[in-house]
Amino acid sequence: MSYGRNHMQERTYLDWNATAPLRREARAAMAAAWDLFGNPSSVHAEGRRARGLVEDARVSVADAVGGRPHNVIFTSGGTEANTLALTPSSGKHKQDIDNLIVSSIEHASVLAGGRFALDRVARLPVHRSGLVDLDGLRTLLAQGPPALVSIMLANNETGAIQPVAEAAHLVHEAGGLLHVDAVQAIGKIHISIKELNIDLLSISAHKIGGPKGMGALVFAENQIRPSALIRGGGQEQGGRAGTENVPGIAGFGAAVMAAETGRTTNMARVQTLRNRLEDGLRQTPGSVIFSQEIARLPNTTLFGVPTLKAETAVIRFDLEGVAVSSGSACSSGKVQPSHVLEAMGYGPEMTRSALRFSLGWETTEADVDRAIKTWRKLSGALLRRDETGLELF
Ligand code: PLP
Repeated sequence: MSYGRNHMQERTYLDWNATAPLRREARAAMAAAWDLFGNPSSVHAEGRRARGLVEDARVSVADAVGGRPHNVIFTSGGTEANTLALTPSSGKHKQDIDNLIVSSIEHASVLAGGRFALDRVARLPVHRSGLVDLDGLRTLLAQGPPALVSIMLANNETGAIQPVAEAAHLVHEAGGLLHVDAVQAIGKIHISIKELNIDLLSISAHKIGGPKGMGALVFAENQIRPSALIRGGGQEQGGRAGTENVPGIAGFGAAVMAAETGRTTNMARVQTLRNRLEDGLRQTPGSVIFSQEIARLPNTTLFGVPTLKAETAVIRFDLEGVAVSSGSACSSGKVQPSHVLEAMGYGPEMTRSALRFSLGWETTEADVDRAIKTWRKLSGALLRRDETGLELF
């Protein structure tokens, strides 16, 4: 996707895992929703019309993950959905669950442990490939009482798709529950909460072309709900108090529907482009494409070269009109070593050297070729250092 023609330097955006542009369908749905101003809790016609938008969106979200509409709670995003999911004592039969196991490559909102006491949170190791260690999971489960386990469906840095169905089997055998953060997976790969045997699943709207600040937690049928994070009125079946963000929800519903329509064709095209990009990047001696030996999201490349300083590379790419991210960027904008690569066993020469290229439905061949050309132009200087180890610019 290039934009800015005739106005400013033409840009190439390759940071779709950070966020995606608003889809036309979502924009239209939100614009229409502003005029249906009723309160969805009101019984009159104005209220019922607003309620209609909320419930239609709930059906779209449920359909996208193979769930049921009455098992969807709208939230303010993936972060809130994760925090709500990570609640002690949320077991099917209200058994006490006060232990949490999270994989060590989770998003910060899962690593934070939600409402579990920090000394009750255990970290599950991952293999060098970027896949969670299922033997490690078996061991952790055997060590204690039933636990809530949180494993993402696809990693935001490497794109590695995790063995969630196998994990669900182990977790349920041990009497626990499985939460899955599917924020990066939705719209990119097929998801079915039922087929994968997931108990709680988080998604976010802005990664699929919906508005920022919208997400959802989806439950398996008959799953006991975690107590609300935001208490007050009985909205969202008591799951989240407060008058619903009707335009945001309508935009989310439209985005998820658009993302699912033609997903297979769209993502096959994106994968071809991603492979073209990787063919170009691989020409750099000593470079690594992380997790390339396992199943990954079709749009994601995490690329590293030992002496590269990702922080500088991101700035240089930006000056050339190409938006990419460092694997390790955090929300403050500061670059820290990638906790994902650290968990995969890489040392400091790699954990600060990774660049993430993530593509989306509007990415073109020209975007990819520009990224490769830009890398070729910059890589000489970016990889050259003097004897003191400092970069030369
Ligand atoms: N989980 C993953 C894997 C993510 O990549 C993100 C966003 O970067 C989140 C959760 C948080 O979602 P949100 O930005 O909607 O709070």
